Amino acid sequence: MATVAFIGLGNMGGPMATNLIKAGHTVTVFDLSEAACQQLQAAGATVADSAAEAATGVEYVLSMLPAGKHVAATYLGDAGLLARLDSSVTVLDCSTIDAATARAVGEAAAALGVGFMDTPVSGGVAAAAAGTLAFMCGGSASTFEKARLILKDMGKNIFHAGPAGAGQVAKGCNNMLLAIHMIGTSEALEMGARNGLDPKVLSEIMLASSGRNWSLEVYNPYPGVMENAPASNGYKPGFMVDLMVKDLGLALEIAQQSDFDNPMGQLARELYLQHQQAGNGQMDFSSILQKLQA
Ligand code: NAD
Repeated sequence: MATVAFIGLGNMGGPMATNLIKAGHTVTVFDLSEAACQQLQAAGATVADSAAEAATGVEYVLSMLPAGKHVAATYLGDAGLLARLDSSVTVLDCSTIDAATARAVGEAAAALGVGFMDTPVSGGVAAAAAGTLAFMCGGSASTFEKARLILKDMGKNIFHAGPAGAGQVAKGCNNMLLAIHMIGTSEALEMGARNGLDPKVLSEIMLASSGRNWSLEVYNPYPGVMENAPASNGYKPGFMVDLMVKDLGLALEIAQQSDFDNPMGQLARELYLQHQQAGNGQMDFSSILQKLQA
């Protein structure tokens, strides 16, 4: 069992840290929110007064923070954690952030001899609680071996995508594709419904045909087709439109930085942005069907 510092105990980080405690690791936590820290204390964690205090003397530092600026502030510069860590420490940033920041933190860590991986996740709050997240990891092969020893207690699929930043690129590619097939699935179902087809029957037809995809198969956006999908529960998330807009922005940055034109990804982002701006940011992302119905 390992000694772990966990920084960022929100909707995702809280249950992830709890699973590490359940697996028998010794976990010290820090979050700017006192309430979040207290919850973890009740679950068996030690609460530190700062990220630096949490990271003192541990084998692993994990973080689950909102965006690149929080990750950069936590790790980089004279006041950042990297400058204080022993080279035996392994740093795993599970946040979904821009690939450029992940690469910058990876480079700074390498210069100091500290093992770093960007390890963003697929799967939402339910998967974080169930310990069934998928991790997409960017960093060296030796850091990946160390990362696996910890990540396996929070998830079930752990992929080594490539060097630092590759985890964020994999996540950007996946979520861009997810947005595209959710919009495409909604469009096809609505077109069928407007032409007198039962969305349930049309779903069965497309599931047995070449239109089959994840949105249709496990997350049908049409209310009433799939009992447990957010669409049949008032589009209660699930995965919020706000987070999809964030991820599509990150995907666009990846495309631009690699001088790649991603027309479908850009259109998906534009549609989700409009849907968000119409006041639907807190709805599940499958509610994009309602935008197409308007
Ligand atoms: P959240 O807002 O619930 O939690 C973020 C936590 O970080 C908060 O508790 C906040 O107080 C804390 N925090 C912010 N700055 C800090 C700092 N400098 N030091 C210590 N703590 C700090 O967000 P979340 O839903 O847990 O998401 C976290 C990350 O996971 C994001 O990058 C998000 O994109 C990604 N993600 C979320 C989901 C999801 O379904 N919620 C799914 C996949 C990935």
